[in-house]
Amino acid sequence: MSILAGIEAGGTKFVCGVGTDKGEIIEKVRIETHTAAETMPMVCQFLIEMDAKYGLDAIGIGCFGPIEPDPLSDQYGHITTTTKPGWQNFDMVSCVRQAVDVPIGFDTDVNAAALGEYYWGNACNLTDFLYLTVGTGIGGGGMVNGQLVHGSMHPEMGHIMVPIDRQKDHFAGNCAYHGQCLEGMAAGPAIKERWQVDSALDLPPDHVAWQLEAEYLAYALTNFILVLSPQRIIMGGGVMKQSQLFPIIRDKTRQYLAGYIKNSSIDNIDQYIVPPGLKSDAGLAGSLALAKQAALALSNNTWTDGSVSSTFSG
Ligand code: ADP
Ligand code: ZN
Repeated sequence: MSILAGIEAGGTKFVCGVGTDKGEIIEKVRIETHTAAETMPMVCQFLIEMDAKYGLDAIGIGCFGPIEPDPLSDQYGHITTTTKPGWQNFDMVSCVRQAVDVPIGFDTDVNAAALGEYYWGNACNLTDFLYLTVGTGIGGGGMVNGQLVHGSMHPEMGHIMVPIDRQKDHFAGNCAYHGQCLEGMAAGPAIKERWQVDSALDLPPDHVAWQLEAEYLAYALTNFILVLSPQRIIMGGGVMKQSQLFPIIRDKTRQYLAGYIKNSSIDNIDQYIVPPGLKSDAGLAGSLALAKQAALALSNNTWTDGSVSSTFSG
C-alpha cells in the first residue's frame, strides 16, 4: 500500500492531506491562500511532518491555473499567467520537491477531479469520460483512451461559445476575456448577476433561471459529446448541487443531439450524465489520485516529471 499526500491548491484555500492508494484520507488540513510566499511555507511544513510520520511515496498537486503541466517544458510545474497576486510564474513543483523529494503529480484541479472519479468515483473502468465543474468558473477534465487530455497546455472547456437566444436572455455575459462564453453565461457569478441575487442559492428550484442554465450546459455537453465521444459525463461544482438541473440537462442534451448519435450509453442517459461519485473531499481525493498516478508510473518505470536531477526521471 502506498502512502500519498495530496494538495488541493485553490484560489481561496489549500486543502492538504495524506491518504492511501485506496483513496482513504487519514490526515487533512486547510490553509488559507494568500501569496505563495505566505502560503507555501505552511504547505511545505505539513508535507515535511507527514513524510516524517508516514513516509510519503508520492505527492499530487491539483492546482488552480493556468499552469504548465508538460514535463518537457522549462516552465513545467509553474503556475503561469494568473492574476492572483503573489503567484505569477510560481514554480510550485520545485517548491514542493525541496520539502519532500518524491514523485510529484502536477495537473489542473479539474484533471485531478477527473482522475479521482476514475480511481474511486463514477468513472471507474472507463477509458473515455469528461468531468465538468460548474462553480465560480466552468472547467472540464477529459480522459481519452485512458489518458488525461492535456494538449499543448490544457483544455479550457468552460470558454467555448454556446448559442444564445437574445429574445429570452439579455445578460451580456461576464467572462473577462470573452463576455458571452459558456462560463460568462452559466457559471455561478453569471447566474447571480443575471438574476440580481446575492447568490445562485437564493433562486428557488423551480425558477426559470434553472431552465436557462440547463440549456447552456446542455449545449456545451452536446458539443463535448460530439468532439470527445465520452462514455460518461460527470458534472460537479457548487451550481450542480441544484439537483433539479440533471433531468433538464439530460432531456435537452438528447434533444440537441437530435438522434444523430446512436449509442446505448446515450440512450441510457440517466447513467450517462451523472453527479460525481466522490462527495466530500473530492478535491483532495483528486490530488491523491495524481499522487497515485505518479507512484504507479514510477513502479511501471514510466515516470517522468520534468526533473533533471531526480533519479526517477526518464
Ligand atoms: P469554486 O468554484 O470556487 O471552487 P464551488 O464549486 O462551490 O467553488 O462554486 C461556487 C459557486 O457555486 C458560487 O458562484 C456559488 O454561488 C455557487 N453555488 C454554490 N453552492 C450552490 C448551490 N447549492 N446552488 C447553486 N449555486 C451554488
Ligand atoms: Zn470566457
